[in-house]
Amino acid sequence: MKKGIALTIVVGMLLCGCSASQKNQTSSKTEISVQSEVSEESEVSKEESKLPEPESRDVFAMDTYMVLKAYGSNAQKALEEAEDEIKRLESIFSVKVPSSDISKINSTSGNPVTVNASTRTAIAKAIEVGDMTDGALDITVYPLVREWGFTTGDSQNEPNYKIPEQWLIDWHLGNVGYDKIVINDSIVTLPTQFEIDLGAVAKGYATDAVIEILEANKINSALINLGGNVYALGRKPDKSKWKVGIQNPKDTNKTICTLAIENKAVITSGNYERFFEVDGKRYCHIIDPKTGYPADNGIISATVIGDSGLDCDALSTALFVMGTEKAINFCKAHKDIDVILVTKDMKIYITDCLESIITMEDGLKYEVIKR
Ligand code: AMP
Ligand code: MG
Repeated sequence: MKKGIALTIVVGMLLCGCSASQKNQTSSKTEISVQSEVSEESEVSKEESKLPEPESRDVFAMDTYMVLKAYGSNAQKALEEAEDEIKRLESIFSVKVPSSDISKINSTSGNPVTVNASTRTAIAKAIEVGDMTDGALDITVYPLVREWGFTTGDSQNEPNYKIPEQWLIDWHLGNVGYDKIVINDSIVTLPTQFEIDLGAVAKGYATDAVIEILEANKINSALINLGGNVYALGRKPDKSKWKVGIQNPKDTNKTICTLAIENKAVITSGNYERFFEVDGKRYCHIIDPKTGYPADNGIISATVIGDSGLDCDALSTALFVMGTEKAINFCKAHKDIDVILVTKDMKIYITDCLESIITMEDGLKYEVIKR
């Protein structure tokens, strides 16, 4: 397992938190070991073996494997603090921790709940991105996520995937609507019956928090991978840019391309992260708030590259839901973000600024979204 994690960080491959198919009931643990079978004899690993040894930490939190790698004299202390912060965020964000802010909000919906500043920020961002994306991102979709069996925090257990009956989907849709969340300073109130989940933004928030800690410790070279949410801080010790691979959604042991980046988050939402299949149809963990069904609007992977992990995480989930046409139009209107979209028929779209930093795998081509 260690090998897989090492390779994942070396190649910068987007490590999926978990992915399981109903056919073989694969758990996330097994998925990680599948990755460990990838040969270490890659070009990139040879290149990186010339670098000095980084301080490195493997963390299991937020239902996923995370790898933090940092260079510098304060690296050990910085990573210790980063791990503590990730655990703190998990304890306030998780729907599975009864004392978390989110559990309190959900269990007393209808009543005001005082939350931590981090929870407030994450919820406020989710509402803002909900507004920007015509409700494609909607954290009140949680009852439907659970109904389909994609509850976060369950990757250690057998999944409970199922296609809900239509009347149940319709009933839950009556309790969906992020615009009904009320935030006043640190007090959050949901309508009764409503429940939220920060699965779409939590790792992005944690990414930013980790980077803040590393920077406070004067670390200027690090690569962190929070279950596929990558941030490249500064450059590698040899002054070259970090290489981050984007997973091939149809063959997750491969990449479609590599990006040369510094000081950027690279965050992907994909239909391969957690899913099940019935009669050849794939049902994934990202729910379309308009239908109550797993989003199936043409995109199988949406990657957002930008300065803020939180923004990129929120937007990658939203673009996945929006589907090809709406997502492309959104990219045209938002020049501040860079995006890679992969469609069901393996068409790859990239925003124009990425052209100078992208290297495609042999045989793969892209179409440019010009702004
Ligand atoms: P991500 O992997 O960042 O795309 O987030 C996916 C997770 O966000 C899911 O596992 C759910 O917990 C939650 N989720 C699913 N659909 C939505 C949605 N439309 N809006 C907000 N959160 C969602
Ligand atoms: Mg997300």
